[in-house]
Amino acid sequence: MVETKTRVLIIGAGPAGYSAAIYAARANLKPILVTGIQPGGQLTTTTDVENFPGFAQAVQGPELMEQMRQQAEHVGTSIVFDTIMSVDLSQDPIVAQGDSGDTYLGDALIIATGAQAKWLGSPGEADYSGYGISACAVCDGFFYRGKEVVVIGGGNTAVEEALYLTNHASKVTLIHRRDKLRAEQILQDRFFAHPKIEVVWNTEVVAFLGESEPSRRLTGLRLLDRATGVETSVSVGGAFVAIGHDPATALFRGQLDMTDAGYIKIAPWSTATSRKNVWSAGDVSDDRYKQAVVAAGMGCMAALEAEKYLAERTASQPTAEKARKARESANWNSNLTIA
Ligand code: NDP
Repeated sequence: MVETKTRVLIIGAGPAGYSAAIYAARANLKPILVTGIQPGGQLTTTTDVENFPGFAQAVQGPELMEQMRQQAEHVGTSIVFDTIMSVDLSQDPIVAQGDSGDTYLGDALIIATGAQAKWLGSPGEADYSGYGISACAVCDGFFYRGKEVVVIGGGNTAVEEALYLTNHASKVTLIHRRDKLRAEQILQDRFFAHPKIEVVWNTEVVAFLGESEPSRRLTGLRLLDRATGVETSVSVGGAFVAIGHDPATALFRGQLDMTDAGYIKIAPWSTATSRKNVWSAGDVSDDRYKQAVVAAGMGCMAALEAEKYLAERTASQPTAEKARKARESANWNSNLTIA
């Protein structure tokens, strides 16, 4: 049971967390980054990453995250493989309790716990995730040039993913479990007007079908027509599951302002949360872009904002120190008088 104090505590080891760590460490703040269960975050389950600047050839997601980890460590971050189980933001310093039994105290906290795409959980989905199944059209749409793909879902995400995929795929079929979309009307108008898009209503994907190793890849779907109860198989070139995301915010519920969808609220053009010594970066606050490069940028912002806060706090300390000394002196004097 070790208690460790740091000026900047960072929770989360994705692009936001590591970028925050790099900036905080280079500002000589000696940050501690607690990784969580999945160090590297969502990119560790991705193969080719072609949209993170700096890599002329596609970089593998796990390799990119390993490089970020090493970079953060190299410039002076303490990386701890632990999972934070509870946080008390009302304390100063903030108190975070690790699964290991260790306690982490931070003058400033940067939350970079990310989000997870929701999955259907149907048979075959886990087998072909990254091999024909994706939850991010912007990340992976490029790999489906000229192919026929499906998007599963009926909200804003599904409609946006479908529209984005029309840039690459020859045909996009949206499969939705009901007979009505819940996406915004303006998106629906663009969606229904697009010549490459078709919709299959009242249909569930009950299984993902494919080839096993060595040519592991998704080849088709088993669909259930909810109206008739009839199951059919269709072949597909790729499938995008777009049924929403879960931001990892359970630790902070009731302690920070959040959006209705459970994302941590931040001020515009800032990563400032509803508490003065807490910043939030990456997908845990971003329900719009959900991109590694954006998360990395937000991590940088969070570290710069935390650094400014800590510098101002330090600058104000001599005044506090003076006040304390004056109080002590007054007490001494009054003691003298009493005496
Ligand atoms: P939503 O919760 O809005 O929609 C999820 C969709 O997935 C629904 O159509 C739902 O079906 C379907 N779904 C959920 N679970 C299953 C399942 N097990 N099997 C089949 N279908 C399923 O999530 P979004 O990610 O689309 O949006 C989340 C939030 O983010 C919303 O507030 C949205 O407005 C916002 N957003 C905004 C964007 C923008 O402003 N441009 C872009 C993306 C998101 P059903 O309809 O039957 O419930």
